[in-house]
Amino acid sequence: MAIAGAGFTGMWTAYYLHKADPTLRIALCERDIAGYGASGRNGGWCSALFPASLSKLQRMTDRAGAIAMQTAMYKTVDEVSRVVAAEGIDCHWARGGTVMLARSAIQLERAKEEIAEAREFGFGEENLRLLTAAEATEMAAATEVAGGTYTPHCAAIHPARLARGLAEVLRRKGIALYERTEVLEIQPGRLVTRLGTVRARYVIRALEGYTPRLRGLQRAIAPVYSLMIATERLPESVWEQIGLAERPTFGDFRHLIIYGQRTADGRFAFGGRGAPYHFGSAVRPSFDRVPVVFAELRRTLAELFPVLGEVAITHTWGGPIGVARDWCASVGLDRETGVGWAGGYVGDGVSTTNLAGRTLSDLITGTDSDIVRLPWVGHRSPDWEPEPLRWLGLNGGLRVMATADHAEDRTGRPSRAARFMGRFLGG
Ligand SMILES: Cc1cc2nc3c(=O)[nH]c(=O)nc-3n(C[C@H](O)[C@H](O)[C@H](O)COP(=O)(O)OP(=O)(O)OC[C@H]3O[C@@H](n4cnc5c(N)ncnc54)[C@H](O)[C@@H]3O)c2cc1C
Repeated sequence: MAIAGAGFTGMWTAYYLHKADPTLRIALCERDIAGYGASGRNGGWCSALFPASLSKLQRMTDRAGAIAMQTAMYKTVDEVSRVVAAEGIDCHWARGGTVMLARSAIQLERAKEEIAEAREFGFGEENLRLLTAAEATEMAAATEVAGGTYTPHCAAIHPARLARGLAEVLRRKGIALYERTEVLEIQPGRLVTRLGTVRARYVIRALEGYTPRLRGLQRAIAPVYSLMIATERLPESVWEQIGLAERPTFGDFRHLIIYGQRTADGRFAFGGRGAPYHFGSAVRPSFDRVPVVFAELRRTLAELFPVLGEVAITHTWGGPIGVARDWCASVGLDRETGVGWAGGYVGDGVSTTNLAGRTLSDLITGTDSDIVRLPWVGHRSPDWEPEPLRWLGLNGGLRVMATADHAEDRTGRPSRAARFMGRFLGG
């Protein structure tokens, strides 16, 4: 087994393959260090979110397929929890669920639509429930709260601790993890690296946002940036005014996604989209830092929680997430060539990568399980458009989403442009 990329996808795959058959020889080749990519620097939502809605999954397969996918995602949060405990990985795990705030009448409508969709597919209050303004405010005391939703299916984690912890577990089990080993090409039966060639019956692509750098894969995944800020440690008196007491992860129903968590050491870690997509799917360390986006995140955080207006921002960072053209993650294995892949998680990969790892392990070992029949298995997303269309479409979409939020605040009416762009981008 040879795996390109040691993020969560690559590491979970190695973990479950070793568990299934400890005699397998597994090599992970990582260009930087394990967890260097999105896995080590995300918002730490280990959630049951999947980047395609239940209705979309139903259109892709059928109702039963959509329900099975969502149920598998719920179970995946439990599975990550189980492994973290069993392997003694100290990743600040806190199963506080997720509170999503509705901060306008339009956002409240979206919250209700989400609840209605869950009910239509048979998922009850125990999975997702509507919150009154008072209930939502009690969980996260932001301004202008009109209501919200709550799901228990999420844990807040420290992502770098999970990534480095997993790498340590793999090493302990004798799995070969080659850091500073860049893969130049993925071919059936071999990974060509800068330092030599690894031959293997099965070869897995686990490169997510970095995929387009490899020959022949330039249009497979588009890297879109998500950026984050973290405050200094906040005193208990400030947390008493904010809430998030059980460390639920937190967001709201605006178009341009925001996400936050109260960290175990008492900081507010807060992120959002809005950074530009770079021409030709370029990924560079300098793209991780966009001062205007950090300033906007800071402004948004203070608008949500005015008590944070003057606190110091001690950390800023970002990274590429991987987006497939139809906005749907996929995992699969080509039996003939022995080449497998998983990715396109958009911003929902912390837990989905675990499901991907288990699925790849079952596909490779020929284990007939429920998870190998889920709708995302073997799903092939179309390629992205060639440039400059890709650049125009993605940046146009980001611009529309950002302005739609302002327009909705101003007019009190839902943005038709955002709906259209959502459909155009396949989201
Ligand atoms: C700022 C931010 C916030 C996010 N927040 C959340 C969140 O709260 N919840 C959630 O579920 N998801 C979140 N995500 C998304 C989530 O982090 C990813 O979906 C997930 O980590 C993807 O894991 P991966 O292993 O597939 O990819 P990555 O973690 O990106 O791993 C790919 C690996 O491949 C390596 N690599 C690249 N090129 C090569 C090469 N040529 N040869 C060898 N190795 C190579 C990279 O160094 C990297 O380690 C966020 C992402 C970002 C950037």
